[in-house]
Amino acid sequence: MPPIFLSSTYVQESPGVHKGFEYTRSHNPTRYALERCIARLEGSTLTKEQDASFGGFAFSSGMAAVSSTLDLLDSGDHVIAMDDLYGGTNRLFNKVKRRSSGLDFSFIDLTNLEALEQSITDKTKLIWIETPTNPMLKLVDLEGVVSIAKNRGILLACDNTFATPALQHPLELGFDIVMHSATKYLGGHSDVVSGILVTGNETLAERIRFVHNSAGPILSPFDSYLVLRGVKTLSLRMRRHCSSAMKIATWLESHDEIERVIYPGLPSHPQYTIAQKQMRIDDVPVGGGMITCIVKGGEDRSKVFLEKLQIFSLAESLGGVESLVEHPAIMTHASVPTEMRDDLGIDDGLVRLSVGIEDCDDLIKDLEQALN
Ligand SMILES: *Cc1c(COP(=O)(O)O)cnc(C)c1O
Repeated sequence: MPPIFLSSTYVQESPGVHKGFEYTRSHNPTRYALERCIARLEGSTLTKEQDASFGGFAFSSGMAAVSSTLDLLDSGDHVIAMDDLYGGTNRLFNKVKRRSSGLDFSFIDLTNLEALEQSITDKTKLIWIETPTNPMLKLVDLEGVVSIAKNRGILLACDNTFATPALQHPLELGFDIVMHSATKYLGGHSDVVSGILVTGNETLAERIRFVHNSAGPILSPFDSYLVLRGVKTLSLRMRRHCSSAMKIATWLESHDEIERVIYPGLPSHPQYTIAQKQMRIDDVPVGGGMITCIVKGGEDRSKVFLEKLQIFSLAESLGGVESLVEHPAIMTHASVPTEMRDDLGIDDGLVRLSVGIEDCDDLIKDLEQALN
């Protein structure tokens, strides 16, 4: 196991002659171990000579990783983002970076790639997507985005938090940057907040390294160790999350108290064919571990449902071994403006489930008692 190097500074042999490490904001052996691991999982092929951590960078939170990506841009640049985004990303773009960095944002439904083509201007320097999105689980065709926007001087970045490198590899399809809230599936145990950026491009790695070291939103050595430990079981956990979520989504879809189920593994999902193409484990299509559903009876009924659940814990966040459930309109997406929530369909009866790795029959029994 890589030791946890808590040292903030490292002894030098002669002024300016260090032994590979100077100061922990710049580099730390435990953080390197994590960064190199995720970089390889995401498919970066950079060598140690090209970039010391193979193009992987660990941040103190997912939001710090998103914010640092925007720090690669210049004031006046235009960003195209998916319309359905993690609530915190929406808030950072609209309420902070628009003002503090002078960036301009367009929020587009990128399930329609014609809309993407039409939104690109001379000033567009970044396309920011999530797939599957949070909470509507919309899918973006990664290859389609690459075929429209590649080689036009636009950075292509994908928040890969929901799919993880166990299911999908945006870099291999031509994306420039992959971002993670490692708080979720990568860490996997709801005991650490962290973020990751990975690039497979040497020049871009140098630019990210410069921002990372300049602004300093780094992950601590202890937290790096925790995420690395979580990643050891990522493949096993994702298989279980996906198989249980598929069973639960199918069960919910046939339940009388449920108006609609949104799950990429179900043929009823609007982008089912894209899911089949780009989300796979061992070349078998999977739908991921997240399910969104609409409970009949609106907010009052969905609140009762959430309060009655016993194995599913009522809490924000996702991707841990324990199942979680939440109400996006009141909880994670309260920061998204009401009109935007309405446009997206973030309904008052909408509930988001993060299916954990508990016994699947126990989870279904829990849902059943809470719905009845
Ligand atoms: C949680 C999350 C984030 C933000 O990450 P933090 O670690 O909470 O800062 C960004 N994107 C997605 C998809 C998320 O689920």
